This record gives sequence, C-alpha cells and structure tokens, in this order.
Amino acid sequence: MDIDIRSKFFGTQQVLGKISLSAAIGEVIAVTGPSGIGKSTFVRMIAGLEKQYDGQITNAGQIGFVFQEPTLLPWRNLLDNISLVTGCDQTAAQAALDRVELGDRALDFPGQLSLGQQRRVALARALAANPQTLILDEAFASLDEETAKRMHKLLKRVLSENSFVTFLVTHNLEEAVEMADRVLVLGGAPATILLDHRIETGTPKGNLHSQVKTLREKLDKLR
Ligand code: ADP
Ligand code: MG
Repeated sequence: MDIDIRSKFFGTQQVLGKISLSAAIGEVIAVTGPSGIGKSTFVRMIAGLEKQYDGQITNAGQIGFVFQEPTLLPWRNLLDNISLVTGCDQTAAQAALDRVELGDRALDFPGQLSLGQQRRVALARALAANPQTLILDEAFASLDEETAKRMHKLLKRVLSENSFVTFLVTHNLEEAVEMADRVLVLGGAPATILLDHRIETGTPKGNLHSQVKTLREKLDKLR
C-alpha cells in the first residue's frame, strides 16, 4: 500500500500535512501522537471513509475497521452480527469467532458480553471481511489491566498470523512496541510524521522495556 497525502483540511483548518509511506503485507504499524492531532482522520482516509483530501492512497484493498465503540447490532446474535455485516457465511463467521476465542458464544447476543468481549467480536467481524488492510482505532483503550493484558496476547497472535497490513492507533507505547513492526509518531499542526521508528522484532520479552525506553528517548528529543 502506498500513502502519499499532501494535505487534509476540515473547512479552513488544515489537520494533516505531507504524509508519505509505503506499507507491506504483514506489517503492523502503530500510529501514535497526542489527542486531536489527526490519527483518526489519517486512518479514516486510509479506509476511504474520508474522501476529501489532496493526495493519493493506493492499494489499501478490502478494509477491516475496528472502532473504539464495538458498534454491534444488539438484537442479533454474534454469528449474525458478523455474517450480516460482512456478507460471509455462518461457517466463516464461526471461524472468525474462534480466532478471537469466542467460538462458544456464537449464539449469544452482544448485551450478554463484557465490553472487552464485544470488542473481540468487532475484531472478528473485521477479520471475517478478509481485509487487506486492518485498522484498529484505539480499539482496546480503557479496559481494565487484566482484560487489556489478555487482549494484547490475543491481538498479538491474530496479528502474527496475518496476511494484511495493520494500522494500530494507540496512546500506549508499550502496546505499540509489543505489537508493531513500526511506530509512526504524528505531530505538529498540520500533522506530519515526526518519527518512523522500526521496532526490532523477534526480540526476547525482557528487551521490550529497553525498546520502549529507546522510543521514549527519541520522543523526548522531538519535544
Ligand atoms: P485524533 O484521532 O488524533 O484524536 P482526529 O483525527 O479525531 O484526532 O481529529 C483531528 C482534528 O480534526 C481535530 O481538531 C478534530 O476536531 C478535527 N476533526 C475531526 N473530524 C472532523 C470533522 N468531521 N469535521 C471537522 N473537524 C474534524
Ligand atoms: Mg482518534
């Protein structure tokens, strides 16, 4: 996928400046930066939800999008939530639920699930669309620590089995380092890429801390 954004305005406010990058299938790219900087705008443009801008985004392909709100249909069971929205069959919907460890809840309704579980259904729904680009926009923010930990483990497994490009919008640097191959830091007004930091993958867990530290130091120098 190739991204070559020159500018994005809302009315007279220029939110994004020049943002250029290429992403390869299999790559997990964390997108971070302060609130209101334009992270959601950026990923919504990749998803084709924001069409008015100067520039081009090519080869994003089929999109799977997981929003912060799970946006499930309350009166439909989990299988229907996945199959009705993506158009996949019930077998594929069941397989998607299995991937997020909710296979045994297939006939339950969203209201019977915790927020963390609902978000996993939203992830399953995005995966069932067979995306070429998966976007998670703060999809796992504000979960309790225990749930967040389990979610990270699950997400890491799902993303390591991937055959798509992932954009993971997050405020959490530990999460970024743990999940991503690359961390993009957006900043400035209009926002541009202040840092495109490559994570050394395949590093032992003990090394995560030192990688977060390296990234923090780089960020501090930007300020
Ligand atoms: P982030 O996700 O980094 O918190 P957003 O992309 O949501 O930031 O917002 C970036 C800026 O664009 C903010 O100033 C926000 O108010 C503005 N913005 C976002 N969406 C719209 C919209 N639909 N209309 C007008 N302004 C918007
Ligand atoms: Mg946002």
